[in-house]
Amino acid sequence: MIVTRFAPSPTGALHLGHAASALFAFRKAQEAGGQFLLRVEDIDPVRCKPAFVEGIYEDLAWLGLFWPTPVRKQSEHRDDYQAALSRLEKRGLIYPCFCTRKEVLAEAAAAGYAPHGWPQDQEGPVYPGTCRSLSQVQRQDLGQTRQAVWRLDMQKAVESVGGPLLWVDLGVGEVIARPERFGDVVLARKDVPMSYHLSVVVDDALQGVTLVTRGEDLFPVTDIHRLLQALLDLPVPVYHHHALLKDAAGKRFAKRDQANTLLALRESGLSCEDVRALALRDLGELSRLS
Ligand code: GLU
Repeated sequence: MIVTRFAPSPTGALHLGHAASALFAFRKAQEAGGQFLLRVEDIDPVRCKPAFVEGIYEDLAWLGLFWPTPVRKQSEHRDDYQAALSRLEKRGLIYPCFCTRKEVLAEAAAAGYAPHGWPQDQEGPVYPGTCRSLSQVQRQDLGQTRQAVWRLDMQKAVESVGGPLLWVDLGVGEVIARPERFGDVVLARKDVPMSYHLSVVVDDALQGVTLVTRGEDLFPVTDIHRLLQALLDLPVPVYHHHALLKDAAGKRFAKRDQANTLLALRESGLSCEDVRALALRDLGELSRLS
């Protein structure tokens, strides 16, 4: 069965770009007699707000979308991410890193990385591996005074899966994953024992998602997700990375632009049909990519 999902982070109000993305996923499921899921990606305790979660439900329902409840909220499933992390730890594929962000930047510069053009993952520049080979004793000592993030030992992880990893994007076709360009990415943060990369992969598998729809800004990190799927023996969904929609002035929609939120459009007097039509026009743009 086709299972699609829309997985917003409740860090702001949804805008027209989100509506188009959600409608795309909803339609794909409807056309195939499958299921559309909504998932709330609220791992960031500072930026995510319950009011935005309510706003997401209201906006999507107003647009005429429906989904099974209860909705999965990532903040309520730490055990699932912890279990995945433990599996990786048992295989020696992750290690605690005590560096601060400032230290990582200084270490990366000292290791000869150019100040511009580092491949970026969601957590910052490529980590030069300072804490990778600390001894148990050093780890215990540092752990007395500092909190650690958990990083993937990228080289070891890539070697452990052997041959090349492939994934399929509806628009681009087959992609050969090159996760090594991101270095030792963070899989569990200091403030919460998980990360975007880990939770998104675990959840898509646990929820049986077969088609992942999301913005093209996340296209590169799908390589990391594909590696995690291989390491954790998880099924590999098909991906659809759509263009990020722009406003009339050619600027990308952003959550901070209050004028383009679905709420603002609604309050300006536009009907649900009007907004759907606007989003569907954009959906045309999105679909042409697939
Ligand atoms: N939660 C992410 C966001 O709102 C999307 C992640 C995904 O779809 O994989 O940008």
